[in-house]
Amino acid sequence: MLQLKGLRAVITGAGSGIGLATAETFVREGALVAALDPKPPTARPGIVPIVCDVTDDAGVEAAVAAAAREWDGIDVLVNNAGIGADGTVEDNEIDEWRRVFDVNVFGMVRMSKACLPHLRRSPHPAVVNTASIVSWTGLPRRACYGASKGAVYALTLAMAADCAGDRIRVNCVCPGTVDTPWVGRLLDAADDPAAARARLVARQPIGRLGTAEEIAVAIAYLASPAAGYVTGSALQIDGGTHGFQVPGGVAR
Ligand code: NAD
Repeated sequence: MLQLKGLRAVITGAGSGIGLATAETFVREGALVAALDPKPPTARPGIVPIVCDVTDDAGVEAAVAAAAREWDGIDVLVNNAGIGADGTVEDNEIDEWRRVFDVNVFGMVRMSKACLPHLRRSPHPAVVNTASIVSWTGLPRRACYGASKGAVYALTLAMAADCAGDRIRVNCVCPGTVDTPWVGRLLDAADDPAAARARLVARQPIGRLGTAEEIAVAIAYLASPAAGYVTGSALQIDGGTHGFQVPGGVAR
C-alpha cells in the first residue's frame, strides 16, 4: 500500500516513540532502515542501528556515510530527532534555547547537508521532517520549543523550494499530542499524573491522544512515491487541535 519496498531510509531519533514506530513501519512495508539515535534500537532484519547524536558535526557525517555504505545509497531522510523545553520567554535561559535549537533545527540542517548528495542519486528522493502542532498553534509554556518547531516548518518550505529542481520532495508532519515516552516523562513529572493526562486528553477535539504508529504511517506516506506530487506540505495529525476548538474540552 505505502510503496516503500526497497527504499533506503535514514531515520533520526529512531530509538524511541515516533522514530522507532517509523522505523518499524518502514521495515514492515519493505524499506531498509538506518536507525540513528544516541541509543538506537537493536539490530533486526531491515534495521541497522547507528549511534548518532545530531548535534555532533563529525558524528553526523560518519553516521550518514555508514548508512549509505550499509544500504548502498539513501532514498529517504526522516529528520525526527527532537527535544522539548517547558517555559515562557522569561523562564528559559539562552543556553537552553541553544540546546533545543541545536537538536531540533541545526540537527536537521546537519543531517540534510550530509544526506543531500546521496538523495540526488536516488530515483525516489524524499525528506520528511517532524514539526509539531506548536509550529502553527500557540500553546502556553512552549516559547522555545514552539520557536524551534516553527523554524522546522519554515526550513521545510525553504528546502522544498531549493530541492524541487533535483526532484527531491521535502515535507513535514505536525503531530499533536502523541502518547510516546516523551509525553510519559512529562506526565510523570506532574504532581498528579492522572489529572495531567486528563487535561491533555481534554484539549484534544477528537477525545484522545495520538499514537506513534499514526504519525509513522503519515511519515511513510510522505516518504513514498505515492506522494510523488506532494512537496512543501505540512500534514497535520493532531486530532483537530490546529483547526478548531471544543469549548470546555471534548463535547461528549
Ligand atoms: P521520544 O523522546 O520518545 O523520542 C525522541 C528520540 O530522539 C529519542 O530516541 C532520543 O534519544 C532521540 N534524540 C534526542 N536527542 C537527540 C540527539 N541529539 N540526536 C539524535 N537523537 C536524539 O519523543 P517522541 O515523542 O517520539 O518525539 C519525536 C519527535 O516528535 C520530536 O521531534 C518531537 O519534537 C516530535 N513531536 C512529538 C510530539 C509528542 O506529543 N510526542 C508532538 C509533536 C512533535
